[in-house]
Amino acid sequence: MALLVMKFGGTSVADIKCIKNVAAHVKREADAGNHCAVVVSAMSGQTNRLVEWVNEASPDYDEREYDTIVSSGEQVTSGLLALALQAVGVKARSWQGWQIPIQTSEAHGSARISNINGDNLRSAMESGQVAVIAGFQGVTGQGRISTLGRGGSDTSAVALAAAIGADRCDIYTDVDGVYTTDPRIVKKATRLDKISYEEMLEMASQGAKVLQTRSVEMGMKHNVRLLVRSSFDDPKASPAAGTGRQSEVGTLVCNEDEIMEKHVVNGITCNRDEAKIMLTNVADKPGVAGKVFGSLADAGVNVDMIVQNLSEDGKYTDIAFTVPASEYDKAMNVLETSKEVLGYKSLRGSKDVVKISAIGVGMRSHAGVAAQMFAAMAQKGINIQAITTSEIKISVLIDPAYSELAVRTLHTLFGLDEE
Ligand code: ADP
Ligand code: ASP
Ligand code: MG
Repeated sequence: MALLVMKFGGTSVADIKCIKNVAAHVKREADAGNHCAVVVSAMSGQTNRLVEWVNEASPDYDEREYDTIVSSGEQVTSGLLALALQAVGVKARSWQGWQIPIQTSEAHGSARISNINGDNLRSAMESGQVAVIAGFQGVTGQGRISTLGRGGSDTSAVALAAAIGADRCDIYTDVDGVYTTDPRIVKKATRLDKISYEEMLEMASQGAKVLQTRSVEMGMKHNVRLLVRSSFDDPKASPAAGTGRQSEVGTLVCNEDEIMEKHVVNGITCNRDEAKIMLTNVADKPGVAGKVFGSLADAGVNVDMIVQNLSEDGKYTDIAFTVPASEYDKAMNVLETSKEVLGYKSLRGSKDVVKISAIGVGMRSHAGVAAQMFAAMAQKGINIQAITTSEIKISVLIDPAYSELAVRTLHTLFGLDEE
């Protein structure tokens, strides 16, 4: 018997037929004697629709009402799944974030979970009742409904798994695991049996949306074993938790020391949510970079890649950097309004860029990975506009027209193509 959290994403609960299929997966686990907490997303497309309605009603909306509205998709699916489970003879009830409660910060739209009291849930589960939980939502200290940012049901699931001390957290989605790159874009992508938290964290934050970045952070912090698997596998044929080999049904996200076979590069990502900004003729003296990036930080803009030219005369320099495309307008505004204080000559920017990254813990012990990567891209005529690296990642900024070519080239270069 195991204490299990099962999470189903939007495409897995897209309609009543899909919800009945989810109920069959849950029934399999409950019948095997497992105590189950099931986290659900809204039906696919529903959250986008709700966001559109908010913008139509009021472009300058009150964020607390935004959360009231966009969290409602998960309320519907939690109730529907509870009904579908009852219909097949499994005891179940729905739980909204505020009923558990899942307490969060006040940052509406991208709130962070601060505390979960798992007592009520655990006792309901131990009485043999499946707990169906609306993902993506919580409640603030002010008693208002909050949401955890797009893709946030993953984080609800991992946080709940940590709070109730679950043996495992199964993330059911529309692909059967984590691949070396997005399998919907590159047909030769290979499914990984296991991936380390660290690599998964980089993959997620660099654009692999299969798991929300915060969910991986939380899994790593609390040592939650995550199994990414498909809800479209036959519910009856899939082995129940604790039986069969995990690698047969999905990808296990776990500690690095559990992984025997280590590749230099394990994944390639493509992030389209990027924009670049360039400031020319900025004074080349101490404190200027602090002012530029300080003003952006104060406005809550996340800066990623930074390139500063060496100034030839020691007086002026150019600074280029990237920000998430969604924060581009805000960043340009801040820089325009502080032109006097920052003292630059011109400000330019564009959303016409993508960031391609190669990720792998093996890079720590292998030299020359960056050189190999740049040479392969040059051979295909792909110009690199900016570069950043970390211990286990190399990222380059390029023209979006070359994104698929770049991903495929690097995928082949690092031996990741499925044989
Ligand atoms: P859900 O609705 O279940 O949360 P998402 O759409 O958020 O599902 O995430 C699943 C999608 O992530 C897949 O359909 C796939 O296209 C995409 N994806 C991107 N990169 C990867 C990767 N490296 N491995 C697996 N899936 C990936
Ligand atoms: N429904 C929310 C979204 O579309 C949360 C999720 O699916 O994880 O972002
Ligand atoms: Mg998702």
